Amino acid sequence: MPNILKNKKVIQAKNIHKYYSIGDSRFHVLKGIDITVYEKEFVVIMGESGSGKSTLMHILGLLDRFDRGRLLINGVDVKKLKDRHLSRFRGAHIGFVFQNFNLLAKYSVLDNVLLPTEYVHVSNARQKAINLLKRLGLNHRINYKPNKLSGGQRQRVAIARALITDPALILADEPTGNLDSQTGHAIMELFKELSDNGKTIVLITHNPKMRKWGNRTIYLKDGKIVDKLDY
Ligand code: ADP
Ligand code: MG
Repeated sequence: MPNILKNKKVIQAKNIHKYYSIGDSRFHVLKGIDITVYEKEFVVIMGESGSGKSTLMHILGLLDRFDRGRLLINGVDVKKLKDRHLSRFRGAHIGFVFQNFNLLAKYSVLDNVLLPTEYVHVSNARQKAINLLKRLGLNHRINYKPNKLSGGQRQRVAIARALITDPALILADEPTGNLDSQTGHAIMELFKELSDNGKTIVLITHNPKMRKWGNRTIYLKDGKIVDKLDY
């Protein structure tokens, strides 16, 4: 486990509320979330399906807005970022890994990994992408299209894409949800390795078995943080 010095806060979320509008009613999906994540932590956010995990990840990852509260990423109050600066800020500070990989079918593995560099300057991006793909055991798949890859390989491509800008924070939403248990285990070992090398990771899951990979677990139930879950 890396030495976590509690001086640098990567995420400071205070009293985050989010509503979804459904017809003319409003659904209160996040009900005052407070989360602080320090540099180098590996935090697992666990909750049942429907508890608000993906909504929370979209908010922490600046992919969606919130209605009330305050969010600082790397010390920056994100409400103060103008729209046109938001995607660059997001690209520079946050890497995403999703359950369904979210790769672009038309692009090669290499071009998928290079996508974030369209928003964020990365020097020697191509060589860096190739090195990452090598490190992840995909050097023989660089020019393949995603549909020629297995699920585990696709998720490795997504992880390489998340790492290309060397972001402060990796957000992963059920990253092993579409993988068989052996492949999922290998992907979790990869997250562990990233964490051991000092990356800050927030990983979302409904699966209690995933808790062991993190340094800390936060439980979410019906849009609120609770001390424990019943299962
Ligand atoms: P989880 O990832 O924990 O399964 P979600 O954040 O996806 O939870 O969803 C939390 C709740 O919000 C669920 O009840 C879901 O049906 C609802 N929800 C999610 N997205 C929307 C949306 N775009 N519009 C309305 N309701 C939504
Ligand atoms: Mg979800």
